[in-house]
Amino acid sequence: MTSVLDRPLRGAILAAADNSLMRKAVSRYGMRLGAKRFVAGETVEDFLSAARAANARGFAVACGILGEGVRGSEEAIAAADQYCALLHTFAEQGIDANVAFKLTHVGLDIDPELAFDNAVRIAQAAHDTANTMRLDMEQSTYVDATLSIYRRLRERFTCVGFALQSYLFRSRDDLQAALPLGPNIRFVKGAYLEPPAIAYAKKQDVDENYARLVDTALSGEGYTAIATHDPRIIARVEALVAERNLPKRGRYEFQMLYGIGTPLAETLVERGYRVRLAIPFGNYWFPYLMRRLAERPANLAFFLKEALSRG
Ligand SMILES: Cc1cc2nc3c(=O)[nH]c(=O)nc-3n(C[C@H](O)[C@H](O)[C@H](O)COP(=O)(O)OP(=O)(O)OC[C@H]3O[C@@H](n4cnc5c(N)ncnc54)[C@H](O)[C@@H]3O)c2cc1C
Repeated sequence: MTSVLDRPLRGAILAAADNSLMRKAVSRYGMRLGAKRFVAGETVEDFLSAARAANARGFAVACGILGEGVRGSEEAIAAADQYCALLHTFAEQGIDANVAFKLTHVGLDIDPELAFDNAVRIAQAAHDTANTMRLDMEQSTYVDATLSIYRRLRERFTCVGFALQSYLFRSRDDLQAALPLGPNIRFVKGAYLEPPAIAYAKKQDVDENYARLVDTALSGEGYTAIATHDPRIIARVEALVAERNLPKRGRYEFQMLYGIGTPLAETLVERGYRVRLAIPFGNYWFPYLMRRLAERPANLAFFLKEALSRG
């Protein structure tokens, strides 16, 4: 069962995430009960040791500090500071990790210019350390602002990328518009609940669009991150890159989320592909956990079973 298959259940889980009682209960016990499966821990040290372990197993890493929808500018500036510091730590300690973040974590809800300034600082740190950074894609209401900030960043830096969601009808046009920039794009199916007026509701349509978007991106210049745990899509991409004689390194990479699809990720590494694990850390893990539960209702069953067995 997957996210896009089971829309009503997924909607119920994401709606419950807005309930303050639920938030309180899960925030209190969630790390113990199940969040740890998806999150490296709450501290920078937790993240660094997970990243070193992932590197030792042949994975590159995308670092994400858990946070979104920030309402205070000090918090937004502090998040950007932490990303800059992490990029320098990766360079100093030889850790193969870049950063990916949500613009609402660095101030988009407060003032787009604040988010832009913070993103510029992170891009500068990525540039100075010969690394890369990527803007995650959030709810559809943020797509225009995210793409606009990406374009402004791209005028100054080549080390920046963004993400497109295959459940959105508009992503095809957004990809076409970005192609002349030789963009670095991560393709995902999409983790939020979007209305059928703007997004495919059926899993099959989301998957078909995903395959089409990746095919188009791999036909152009730029770098493509295939971020999915879906073995059928991964097999299609493997066939496509073989057919086009694309080298296993330099034009694309696979990406997966920490705690999901690990055996498949390991197989890809063994076959010589570049695979990046997105490893989040921090104490604001509640919405992230809820999205992971909503993607796969079996996770919710596991989570509740743990909760009940612990009384
Ligand atoms: C590196 C990375 C970055 C991402 N960034 C974004 C982003 O910026 N914006 C955004 O909207 N979304 C993002 N996502 C989430 C994405 O949109 C999907 O919600 C998520 O990846 C699940 O879709 P799937 O492609 O794995 O395919 P699905 O068809 O949902 O799943 C395929 C298979 O993967 C496994 N699987 C998938 N999800 C789970 C889970 N939660 N727990 C256990 N098994 C699971 C199951 O075996 C399932 O059958 C990101 C995903 C990845 C991998």
